Amino acid sequence: METDKKLKLEAARKAYTDKIKSGELQRVIPLDPIEKAKKNPKSLRAAINAKCYECSCYERIEVTKCTAKDCPLYDIRPWQREQEETVWRIILNERNRISSDDTSYLL
Ligand code: SF4
Repeated sequence: METDKKLKLEAARKAYTDKIKSGELQRVIPLDPIEKAKKNPKSLRAAINAKCYECSCYERIEVTKCTAKDCPLYDIRPWQREQEETVWRIILNERNRISSDDTSYLL
């Protein structure tokens, strides 16, 4: 049963990867928090995320480690509940996706 699921998932991933390679599908490059805020200027959440991202030298991991408890955004800053390991994995995945045509992230 579990093996059957894995095989189906693997086949779906391969089909998706093949479509990207052939140009049938285009890869979606994720927007960074500032781009997201510009795309949705009425969103307070997007604005807060963008501000913290900018304040932390454009590194999400630094937002998780923010120690500025006097900052009005401190208690509502993004990504504060994410584990450092998780944030690093997200950052590396985003960078890999943006910087190469490698589709191995799909696997
Ligand atoms: S909460 Fe921290 S990261 Fe966000 S704006 Fe304030 S000081 Fe910067």
